[in-house]
Amino acid sequence: MRLAVTGTIGIDTVYTPRDRREGAPGGSAAYFSAAASFMAPVRLVAVVGDDWPAEHRAALAGFAGVDLAGLEVRPGARTFAWGGKYADDPNVRETMFTQVGVLEERPPVVPHDFRDSELVFLANTHPAVQLGFIDQFPSRKLVVADTMNLWIQTAHSELMDLLKRVDGVILNDSEAAMITGSKNPVTAGRGILEHGPSFAIVKKGEHGAVLIHRDGLAVIPAFPADESQVIDPTGAGDAFAGGVMGALAKSGRTDMAAVQDGMAWGTVLASFTIEAFGLERLQALQKSELLQRHARMRDIARFG
Ligand code: AMP
Repeated sequence: MRLAVTGTIGIDTVYTPRDRREGAPGGSAAYFSAAASFMAPVRLVAVVGDDWPAEHRAALAGFAGVDLAGLEVRPGARTFAWGGKYADDPNVRETMFTQVGVLEERPPVVPHDFRDSELVFLANTHPAVQLGFIDQFPSRKLVVADTMNLWIQTAHSELMDLLKRVDGVILNDSEAAMITGSKNPVTAGRGILEHGPSFAIVKKGEHGAVLIHRDGLAVIPAFPADESQVIDPTGAGDAFAGGVMGALAKSGRTDMAAVQDGMAWGTVLASFTIEAFGLERLQALQKSELLQRHARMRDIARFG
C-alpha cells in the first residue's frame, strides 16, 4: 500500500547528560520517513524555510525510498527548530525551546501525485494542521496520528476533533495520561478509543508498548539496551511509528494482527535510532542488521 507522512522537519538541538548536538536534522516527519523507508517507500509532506541546511536535505535524500516531492521550501520563512534536554533517565526530557517558524504559516499542500496514498501518518504538528490533511487523501484506508504535550495543552479542542477523524493513534504513556487523566496505559488507551479511534498504541519507553483495540490487547517489550547504547533518545517515537506504518505498507494489511506485527519492526527501528544523535544511526543502518535484530527480538521475547 502507498504510505504518506505529514509532520515537521526541524533543526534540533539536543543535550544529553554526556554530549550535545546543535543544528541536527530532525522533526517528527524526518524520523518517521527515515525509519519507514527501511520497510516500504514513503511520501513526505512538510514545509521548511529557506534557512534549511543543504546537508539536512542530503541526509533525508540519502534514504532510498523517501519521496521528497511534497517537501516545500518556502522563501523568507524560518524552519521549525526545537531544543530538548534529557535527564539521566532517558525517558525524562525537558523542551528547552520550540521555534515554530514556518509552522505558524499556511501548511503545505499534498501534491496531486500523493493523493492516492492509502496509509497516512499524521506525525506531530498542530492538530488543526493534522486535521486539514485528512481530506487531501481521498483514497485513505487507515489514518494514524501522533501528538505531544505542547499540543495537548495548547490545542485541546482541535485535538479532540482530530481524534474523531482518525483510525488510530500512537502516543507515549505521559501523553495518553494527559489526554485521559489515567496513568494506566490500558485504561488510558480505552479512554482514547471513546473519543473515536479504533486503536491506540501507548508507548512506555524502555518498557515497550501496548496496543489497545476494540477486540483486545497486544503487548511488545522494548529491545533491551545497555545504558551505554542509549546515546540520544530523540525520534524514537517517530521511528517506532515509521516501523509500524512501513510494515503495514509492506504487508498491504490494516488488521490488528498486522499492527501487532508492525510493532516489532517499530521497536527494532526505534532501538537503532537512539544509538546515535539525530538520524546518524539510521543513515548507517544496513538492512541485514535490521533483519538480524528483528530475529533476535523474536528470540528474546518468545515464550510458549
Ligand atoms: P520524539 O523524540 O519521537 O518525541 O520526536 C522528537 C522530534 O520531534 C524532534 O526531532 C523535534 O524536532 C520534533 N518536535 C519537537 N517538538 C515538536 C512539536 N511540538 N511538534 C512537532 N514536532 C516536534
